[in-house]
Amino acid sequence: MDKHIINSLSQYCTVAQKQSLAKMTTLRIGGEADIVLYPETEISLEPIFAVLKENNIPYKVIGKGSDLLCSDKPFHGAIIRLDKNFTNMYFDEELVTVQAGASIIALSIEAMKKGLSGLEFCSGIPGTVGGAIFMNAGAYKSSMEHIIDSVFVYHDGIFQWLSNKDCKFGYRTSVFQQHTDWLILGAKIKLVKQDYKLIEKLMEDRRERRMASQPLDYPSCGSVFRNPEKGNAWEYIDGIGYRGKKHGGALVSEKHCNFILNYDGASAKEYMELVNEIKAKVKEKYDIELHTEMELFNWD
Ligand SMILES: Cc1cc2nc3c(=O)[nH]c(=O)nc-3n(C[C@H](O)[C@H](O)[C@H](O)COP(=O)(O)OP(=O)(O)OC[C@H]3O[C@@H](n4cnc5c(N)ncnc54)[C@H](O)[C@@H]3O)c2cc1C
Repeated sequence: MDKHIINSLSQYCTVAQKQSLAKMTTLRIGGEADIVLYPETEISLEPIFAVLKENNIPYKVIGKGSDLLCSDKPFHGAIIRLDKNFTNMYFDEELVTVQAGASIIALSIEAMKKGLSGLEFCSGIPGTVGGAIFMNAGAYKSSMEHIIDSVFVYHDGIFQWLSNKDCKFGYRTSVFQQHTDWLILGAKIKLVKQDYKLIEKLMEDRRERRMASQPLDYPSCGSVFRNPEKGNAWEYIDGIGYRGKKHGGALVSEKHCNFILNYDGASAKEYMELVNEIKAKVKEKYDIELHTEMELFNWD
């Protein structure tokens, strides 16, 4: 990328050049991004976005990359990451104000230590607060929409608090998926006081359940397919006989067949071919359209 652009951006944030997206995602797949930006403060955002706009540089915010399948090709643009400098958490009675780059697991542990209940479902979700809000991440019949009071957003030069209702949460969706240029900067989360020991026990039970049911020893992006209206995605994948199916370096997990693992240096192409094969077979056998839960990034 042009030296002048790098110099301009460097005045407002840390800039890293030629960074592998594979290293920024839990699936460990993806080409190289031209630049990665680590903003340090809110006031640096306006000039950063002005430089990107002036130079027609596309950008993408990435949290922990735990819900992304990046293509193998290079991304000629900027990745923006908040997980270095936007990680503060402020606890005030039952209200937590947290920055978007904080790990949702770290937040759930802090809440537990303070005897605050509501975030237990997050304890095994390896994302940031921003990514969890964007996805309305959830588990065990709870999700972000149940605990979010409001979300702090930056877009078009404006800083704004959106109410829970404004976020239009649904099953793994939120208003942010229709406004991918918006930057989630933080949130207020409502929790309730509870005995620390009870919260710890619940989190421990869930951790054990995850360990028993999920293949956590290989890179993945969690569940690959959303559950369709009827039944569970894994049942259909099992039904077409794809449990344990291998394609190149990608493997449908034996333990949980809605997880496709990067078992042996899979390329994005191989991974996607397996995803598409499953979709086609499920459609053919059950007349059900499976939709991916993870997001495809930097594909044509
Ligand atoms: C082992 C494993 C288990 C998982 N279990 C679950 C589970 O139980 N439930 C569940 O719901 N998910 C689960 N996931 C998926 C994933 O962890 C969640 O969706 C998580 O919330 C994604 O957060 P992230 O920070 O990694 O987002 P990323 O994957 O980095 O990004 C996802 C999307 O959010 C956007 N985004 C991220 N941060 C911001 C921001 N600050 N502002 C605007 N947009 C932003 C990105 O641009 C992208 O479009 C699992 C994944 C793995 C690997």
